[in-house]
Amino acid sequence: MSESDPTSKSDFIRDIIADDLASGKHSTVITRFPPEPNGYLHIGHAKSICLNFGVALENGAVGAKCHLRFDDTNPEKEESEYVESIKADVKWLGFDWGKDLYFASDYFPFFYDCAEHLIGQDLAYVEDDSAEDMRLKRGNLTTPGTRSVSSERSVEENLALFAKMRAGEFQEGECVLRARIDMASSNMNLRDPVLYRIMHAHHHNTGDAWCIYPMYDFAHPLEDALEHITHSLCTLEFENHRPLYNWFIEHCPVPSKPRQIEFARLSLTYTVMSKRKLLQLVQEKLVGGWDDPRLPTISGLRRRGYPAAAIRDFCKRIGITKFNGTTDVALLEFDVRDFLNRESPRRMAVLDPVKVVLENWAAEPLGHADVSNHPQNPELGERQVPIFNEVWIEREDFMEDPPKKFYRLGPDRHVRLRGGHIIHCTSFEKDAEGNVTLIRAEILPGTVGKDSPEGVQCKAAIHWVDVATGIDAEVRLYDRLFSVEDPDAADGGFLSVLNPDSLKTITAKVEPALATAEPGFACQFERIGYFVADSKDHQSGVKPVFNRTVALKDSWGKQAGR
Ligand code: ATP
Ligand code: MG
Repeated sequence: MSESDPTSKSDFIRDIIADDLASGKHSTVITRFPPEPNGYLHIGHAKSICLNFGVALENGAVGAKCHLRFDDTNPEKEESEYVESIKADVKWLGFDWGKDLYFASDYFPFFYDCAEHLIGQDLAYVEDDSAEDMRLKRGNLTTPGTRSVSSERSVEENLALFAKMRAGEFQEGECVLRARIDMASSNMNLRDPVLYRIMHAHHHNTGDAWCIYPMYDFAHPLEDALEHITHSLCTLEFENHRPLYNWFIEHCPVPSKPRQIEFARLSLTYTVMSKRKLLQLVQEKLVGGWDDPRLPTISGLRRRGYPAAAIRDFCKRIGITKFNGTTDVALLEFDVRDFLNRESPRRMAVLDPVKVVLENWAAEPLGHADVSNHPQNPELGERQVPIFNEVWIEREDFMEDPPKKFYRLGPDRHVRLRGGHIIHCTSFEKDAEGNVTLIRAEILPGTVGKDSPEGVQCKAAIHWVDVATGIDAEVRLYDRLFSVEDPDAADGGFLSVLNPDSLKTITAKVEPALATAEPGFACQFERIGYFVADSKDHQSGVKPVFNRTVALKDSWGKQAGR
């Protein structure tokens, strides 16, 4: 992506950065995107990625950069599968960390040195109290906390005990290292927070080298400072942690002083965004995997057919603010539709087919119709679609007893087959249940590419698939995964409001060229919606599988009408 493609309009963070550059406080800007590799990235992370990498791109002239840093300080939940998926997702979104790829676990020795430094200043001590006792003694908003007797040990004793913690001489939970800050602070985060805990756990990067692991609040500012991050952008729930962030920067031997700035996280209607909940959906096989097209994960959205550019546009549109709120998912769908409408070639598919026999086909047999690939973009040209004497049309494009304003097919009515003749319905057949099983029609010779002849009312063109050459394709009709706006707030828990109709798989008739589409090929099925050849299951020339990216119109907001 180029700098002429700014990823966002201005906002309070960009204003701060511009001021810092103008005043000379900083000569360049270094941001970071710091995911914990304990799950796949979701659209909320995309907001943070677009902000951090976007700021770096916009300030390329002063050598700005954005680091990709894996915050892998917790040994228990991290897997290398997640590291690889995160890299792939950031790249796919269009961003590049260049050489600046880091793992926080590489800084374990530095965190340890900082902890020793704090102990040396009598600003940290080894605590013997259990987690429960520490909680009881922490006090509350009206009562100051109290320290245990552990806090009275000398610097030397603490240094020796901490070395023993590191050497594996204690069990998990036997003791922790705490900062000595202020047990009476109105900010509970400052009441002697834990810096290190004992975990006899294997780490994906450092193996068994460590059995003590730093807490997030301690490690994060040190990571930022070590990497010379200038602006450390995080979500609002860390606002109350900022004094602690600054305390560590102030009291540890760090090479730079980053500034933490908070912004509102993205929440979307009809979905959940917590990694824990997404993991549960995956593990309980309520969805097909992390890349299930119904999930808000980047890999799910990609497989669903959402273009990276549409996601970037969406992030730009929602902007960066200080106020938490929930964004209507329809806004994201709008951006996707808007992008796909401009870019996607048109193809024809019939999802609910009924056969039309063209009885006088011999009067002007065509062989193929020339169909426009994009009515608003003639540059995309035309294609030839085979057509013979029988075509599939959409069941809802025929009415037995149509009202006046129904401009599609009905007894004695006319309609145009897209790119082909105007046809006139002569009769139809029904089965015992009253379903139309066959429609008979006649072509009006000489009407291909021409206006309706005198006395013929034909106001619409419908899509069709040739019976002789059309093929069957598996079509997956995806809808919202949850049936309520705020699944997190559901009384019975988020799993109680799963939308039972979030996936309908049907066999559709599609034009023959779609058989050889490559996985990832995206198009509009005319008059239906945007579809993409599934990246996993679609096999070109063998087994066509298409995912519905988004319907042509928002059928949730208002009833879809044509
Ligand atoms: P968890 O806390 O469940 O592990 P997380 O979503 O906070 O999940 P991280 O891997 O820590 O996961 O997130 C990486 C970065 O993405 C952080 O800087 C975080 O602030 C940002 N981020 C996460 N979720 C959102 C969101 N919904 N909107 C904006 N930014 C987000
Ligand atoms: Mg987190």
